[in-house]
Amino acid sequence: MVGMQQIVAGNWKMNLTLSQGQIFVDNLVAGLDGVELKRQLLLAPNFTLLAALARSCAASGIGLVGQNCAFQESGAFTGETSVAMLKDVGAGYVLVGHSERRQLFSESDKLLQRKVQAVVGGGLVPILCVGETLEQRQSGAAYTLVVEQLKSALSDFPDAPLLVAYEPVWAIGTGRTATPEDARLMHQHIRKFLVAQFTWGAGVPILYGGSAKPENAASLLSQPEVNGLLVGGAALDPESFLQIALA
Ligand code: PEP
Repeated sequence: MVGMQQIVAGNWKMNLTLSQGQIFVDNLVAGLDGVELKRQLLLAPNFTLLAALARSCAASGIGLVGQNCAFQESGAFTGETSVAMLKDVGAGYVLVGHSERRQLFSESDKLLQRKVQAVVGGGLVPILCVGETLEQRQSGAAYTLVVEQLKSALSDFPDAPLLVAYEPVWAIGTGRTATPEDARLMHQHIRKFLVAQFTWGAGVPILYGGSAKPENAASLLSQPEVNGLLVGGAALDPESFLQIALA
């Protein structure tokens, strides 16, 4: 969509302690000084860092993202974190359906739909992650699979802010990036789905994720319908994250 601001989001996964996270943000903020940044920056630290990073991130216009949430509002759910709790400590967004949650923690499409609803109901913005495995891509099922993931997670989705991240599983943490052409084709496919599904579908940012790094960021970000990047490994270093943001 013409005029949509691109977004660069860093997913720290289960990395960085509180002091390491604070040093990262300090270095990032220092690197942004005097720079004209056209893109919106988001960071998804571990829950334990959110409250401490909230003030410096807010002061620099960096949005905070929870990496996961419970769909329940509160109660006897040991080890879980509610959307209200994330909002309370300064998160504006929540990742839902990252492939590591789907694969390592058996999160089903049905569960993810409930999480998406919980995020929206709690006033935060879901970043819904979708993407196929290598096997699914090689068998020609990638496009169908991604649309099925979207359909399921977004059923009964209201008119509310939403981000989608296309993250081919075979590209996450592997060093093997989708080609700009792969990304463009899937993003156009996702856009078609969003526009058919929602009157406001043209305005949903679609991020690409999967071994994005300073060397490939510019070519990915120049593709039509690639409205930003979701970055894992290369977001653990403030310099490479900044290079991506400025690519
Ligand atoms: C991710 O975890 O969302 C991700 C894209 O990781 P990486 O950049 O390391 O592939």
